[in-house]
Amino acid sequence: MGTGTQRLVILGAAESGVGAALLGKQQGWEVFVSDYGKIKENFRETLLQNGIEFEEGGHTERKILNAECVVKSPGISDKVAIMKQVRDAGIEVCSEIEFAYRYKGDSKIIAITGSNGKSTTTKLTYNILEEAEYDVAMVGNIGYSFARQVAERPCKWYVMEISSFQLDDIHTFRPDVAVLLNITPDHLDRYNYVFDNYIASKFSITKYQNATDYFVVNQDDKVIKQYLATHSIHAKIIYFTMDENNIDKEQEGGHISDSRLYIEYEGETLDMSIHDLTLKGKHNQYNTMAAGISSRIAGIRKEKIREVFGAFEGLEHRLEYVATIRGVKFINDSKATNVNSVWYALESMEQPVILILGGQDKGNDYSEILELVREKVKAIVCLGADNKPIHDFFGHVVDTIVDTKSASDAVHASYAFAEKGDVVLLAPGCASFDLFKNYEDRGKQFKEAVQNL
Ligand code: ADP
Repeated sequence: MGTGTQRLVILGAAESGVGAALLGKQQGWEVFVSDYGKIKENFRETLLQNGIEFEEGGHTERKILNAECVVKSPGISDKVAIMKQVRDAGIEVCSEIEFAYRYKGDSKIIAITGSNGKSTTTKLTYNILEEAEYDVAMVGNIGYSFARQVAERPCKWYVMEISSFQLDDIHTFRPDVAVLLNITPDHLDRYNYVFDNYIASKFSITKYQNATDYFVVNQDDKVIKQYLATHSIHAKIIYFTMDENNIDKEQEGGHISDSRLYIEYEGETLDMSIHDLTLKGKHNQYNTMAAGISSRIAGIRKEKIREVFGAFEGLEHRLEYVATIRGVKFINDSKATNVNSVWYALESMEQPVILILGGQDKGNDYSEILELVREKVKAIVCLGADNKPIHDFFGHVVDTIVDTKSASDAVHASYAFAEKGDVVLLAPGCASFDLFKNYEDRGKQFKEAVQNL
């Protein structure tokens, strides 16, 4: 890929698109940004201030199909007309991380992907590197886009949260440490409802790695295990596990046994009680192991890692405690947008649950949580525009199922069903776009409604 007067077209003007535009301009490309919808005010401002040509409310084909390279925002599906034309014209298509990667110099990358736990693990890993006074930035779905960071404040280390969409158009992207947390069905609407396509997309994080790189991966995940049995990986694989049958104390990696967490690396053992971890729940023990191994590979001392593990606060909207009102506890897990994250949320509940479930269904199969719902859930309060799939699935399992269409109604209904000692859990298992702006909006409205009770 050259520079000079080559034409770079960016489709989609949000964080990653604008980041790519800034970097492209800085690197001497002739940049054009095209957004089919309306561009958000702050992004439009940035484009204007930097003298970057753009359009919104449609795509002008002749200004796009003359590009040398097209950077596609992760939100844009390959099925839209303009993408078909770009592909037919044989133009190189890059994701934003691929584009930025080409300008990252000799910096190092820890890239984190998976169906669930990306943000938490990314933030935790970043905090460790930051506490150790590394020159580090947190980029990707959380924080600035990688491209914007490379353009505006290049660092020696990048801790990056990567979604499968970002991995779909990479051609050279090679992280020093790639982390794969888990794979469960999500976003199948974008993968022709073929789970194997989504799996392949997640594994492409390791596609361009070689034997000097690391692939940190969950050994207990059945989908991952099956893939690894039939595909070869070039990077050095380091596992983390809490399955007694998998634990091999001679191997480098992470494991949990007898309520203690161990990270083995280069002949040293980090060892601490899981009760001293600030993050609660099994899922977070996996996230913690992944972050711990990655940080050890990055050269951080185990004492520093242990210190951060015992102080990390967690993120908003992830099993976030809101309040206890007349003995009823409220928990906001609005970020639980797929069934697997609902499983982990329910798994970590110790009291009877009133479950707020529903939203925009991405082709959910609720059988995964059936057992836990039977065991722990007293009532389901649906919070979605169309709640039929929930009624169909749980109609004979849970006695009480009601429909609500706002966070406030959902909170009131839940509170009415709850008795002292119960917990009201917002873990929708669905996207939020039918009734809310996004999951943050859903979580905020939920918390507000609780505060107003
Ligand atoms: P992501 O960035 O991958 O969406 P988050 O850290 O934001 O991940 O967490 C998303 C949801 O999944 C939250 O509801 C959280 O409680 C749950 N979760 C976090 N880590 C895991 C994990 N390792 N496995 C399953 N669920 C998880």
